[in-house]
Amino acid sequence: MNSSLTARCVFLGAPGAGKGTQAKRVAQHGTGEAESGLTHISTGDLLREQVASGSALGAEAKTYMDAGKLVPDQLIIDMVKGKIERPEGLGGSAGWILDGFPRTLPQAEALDTNLSGENALTHVISFAVPEEVLMGRLTGRRTCSKCGAIWHIEHKPTSKDGVCDQCGGDLTQRSDDRPEAIGKRLEVYRSQTAPLLAYYGDRGVLREIDANRSPDVVFQELLTHMQ
Ligand code: AMP
Repeated sequence: MNSSLTARCVFLGAPGAGKGTQAKRVAQHGTGEAESGLTHISTGDLLREQVASGSALGAEAKTYMDAGKLVPDQLIIDMVKGKIERPEGLGGSAGWILDGFPRTLPQAEALDTNLSGENALTHVISFAVPEEVLMGRLTGRRTCSKCGAIWHIEHKPTSKDGVCDQCGGDLTQRSDDRPEAIGKRLEVYRSQTAPLLAYYGDRGVLREIDANRSPDVVFQELLTHMQ
């Protein structure tokens, strides 16, 4: 993929499938200073920012997130629409990756309503990982509170426990990466998000990646799909 890539993509997959890790890599991909130019939009990150800022929206969202449930469609649709409509949001970049949105059929339909013609989706990438692997990925996941880098206590440990190798920030565990919430999130994925595979499969934009491999291998294959 070169640095002038234009793509409007959705990354679909269960929690822990690697959507966020790969979306960050694709957005940063390029030669030298140049990045791919794609804007990475993670609805989970946007919600966590709202929670951290203490906003009313964040307070409402937190109760759903901690329980492993989806926040109401209208709340998330309005949030993503706000991004699309602002010039520095989706509309202003060479393209974008939506990571964690849509997660329900009404969200996918709302996206279609807002993106048509030259703004229509170009790729939907499905990250396939067996469920038994996801649990281990999620319970061991740690995120840097400063730069957002994602680590894993076994598969991708930092050189010093609890400290980010990239920026020295403190590592934290997401409150919804506890086993009780993870079970609920996987169930929600099966019942509400997995039906989107058929929704996008019918349109010929869906590509599936075997994401139960090393991040480097997944990344290389992802680039070939996004050319
Ligand atoms: P993520 O970081 O993508 O795993 O999202 C963390 C949590 O944020 C999810 O478990 C949901 O509670 C909420 N969330 C993120 N994106 C959405 C969405 N598109 N629809 C509803 N809830 C969402």
